[in-house]
Amino acid sequence: MEQELTRATVDPKYTWDVTRVYADDAQWEKAFEQVKEGGKAFAALAGTLAQGKEAILHACQQYAKLNEQLSGVYCYAMMKQNEDTTVAAYQALLGRAASLASELAADSAFFMPEMLALPEGTLESLIEDPAFADYGAMLKGMLRMKPHTLSAREEQLLAMAGDVCAAPENAYDMLTDADMDLGMTRGEDGKKTKLTDVRLLTFLGSRDRAVRKAAYVNTMNGYNKFGNAIAAMYAGQVKADLYQAKARGYKSARQAALYPDEISEDVYDSLIDAVHGGIGTLSEYLRIKKEQLGLSVMHLYDMYVDVDTGFDIQLDIEEAFDLFLKAVAPLGEDYVADASRALAERWIDVYETKNKRGGAYSSGGVYWTTPYVLLNHKKTYDGLSTLCHEMGHAMHSFYSNRTQPSSKADYTIFVAEVASTCNEILLSEYLLKAYEGNKQARIMLIGNLLEHFRTTVFRQTMFAEFEHKAHAMAEEGQTLTRDSLCEMYYGLNKLYYGRACKVDKEVSYEWMRIPHFYSSFYVYKYATGFCAAVALARGILSGDAQKLAAYRKFLTLGGSMPPIEELKVAGVDMSTPQPVCEALDYFAELVYEYRQLLSGEQA
Ligand SMILES: [Zn+2]
Repeated sequence: MEQELTRATVDPKYTWDVTRVYADDAQWEKAFEQVKEGGKAFAALAGTLAQGKEAILHACQQYAKLNEQLSGVYCYAMMKQNEDTTVAAYQALLGRAASLASELAADSAFFMPEMLALPEGTLESLIEDPAFADYGAMLKGMLRMKPHTLSAREEQLLAMAGDVCAAPENAYDMLTDADMDLGMTRGEDGKKTKLTDVRLLTFLGSRDRAVRKAAYVNTMNGYNKFGNAIAAMYAGQVKADLYQAKARGYKSARQAALYPDEISEDVYDSLIDAVHGGIGTLSEYLRIKKEQLGLSVMHLYDMYVDVDTGFDIQLDIEEAFDLFLKAVAPLGEDYVADASRALAERWIDVYETKNKRGGAYSSGGVYWTTPYVLLNHKKTYDGLSTLCHEMGHAMHSFYSNRTQPSSKADYTIFVAEVASTCNEILLSEYLLKAYEGNKQARIMLIGNLLEHFRTTVFRQTMFAEFEHKAHAMAEEGQTLTRDSLCEMYYGLNKLYYGRACKVDKEVSYEWMRIPHFYSSFYVYKYATGFCAAVALARGILSGDAQKLAAYRKFLTLGGSMPPIEELKVAGVDMSTPQPVCEALDYFAELVYEYRQLLSGEQA
């Protein structure tokens, strides 16, 4: 077995260089104090905005500067804490950074209401004013919220209700993180192991059907033991959404959730419609998988099995990084040149070390430095593909930070997964070409893409449909109970999987284990982002120079425009179902090819 690395034994060239944010902890302390004092100074500006343009400009500048500094303070503390999560000193730093963020939020609480209270037409004229060019997006965002912003006293009452509205989610987190025990389940070695939500996925990947079935049934039943309580919590969440939407004069909770990003409800509905159109192809894929697994009946717990193709791509980080650069070559020589700096300049924390945070992420949050990427690199295809994904986020931040002022550099969640997914598709397509004659390789690569489609486009859209239906039921005055929610969720599973799989009753409880349902109307963005990325990657690979230029422009936009408009610049119009349909066409092509490859194998 390999020796476990520690921060002391890992080669420094494979760790990120956090000193670009602050040289050391002493510099961090200095910055912390600056933000703290700056926040107090900002709070003192309350009541001055009516003095005129100069005062407003000063406030905008201070506000942007403080938020830029705060992100440095926060990211530095987070990265140091993530390097070794057991170091108390950095736990403390991160805690202080979080408190500082709340403090700054309190210090600047007056800002938006006071801006909105300026005489009619003031914000509109500032938006046109070149002196306010850096703050245009922020001002438009404020102005947009005006029709749904209430009087000072009413806003105060809503703010006071904030903690109450968060109670369902807090209760759910406490139940599922702390109190709930899913019991034991039998592993592949025949021994009983403690079942957790995180381990469920590993069990579901098992080629031993008894193992995955037991883990699945135990998990679903484990949740359903608390089914009435969880239904009450979720009903509470939905009621809180409805309360806030109604209080602010929205037609529905969904409209309220989509409004700040300027996403119309049609985008949501047309996603669902278009994905329904792809269920036939999904069923076709699942039937192929059923044959591949040698099953006579496919159950929902069979969907996650890793089919062994006997092929994997095992690259160390240097090799993986070189391959990443080759895969993204269609994005242009300068993209490759810029991206190639990442490993040499230590943007990336590569290896798993003792007590390091798990998983992977990219943080482009510090405006004045290059982005950072945390990995726990393994020599597998998954490791390679994670590198490409995170570098997609990193390069999106890199170009946005370089092009936009800090007040407009951060991009929204709606567009966040586009650049990362696009890179993954470029990688898949590059490898499919490179392994042209290698059937096992192609089965692995296409199988991987198909699973990505199933879990991101179909599964997340089904979740989106669940949320929408639950809110609509409540809006129509129906009571949300365990039975009504289970029945509705079961029906959705029947619709999505029923043509190819036996839909067992246990799946009715699955909605109980999805924490994302406590951030309402969020998951649909995974599906739309994925589809947009597929459509864009295909355009780039077609060799059309205009399409490439449009995509490259998109990478520089940060948060300077509404997300739908940014994607239009990139070349996809998410207000129509077309990009989703295009992505589903690609899915159908892949399913067809998968079938060809597998049937050729059997011949
Ligand atoms: Zn991502």
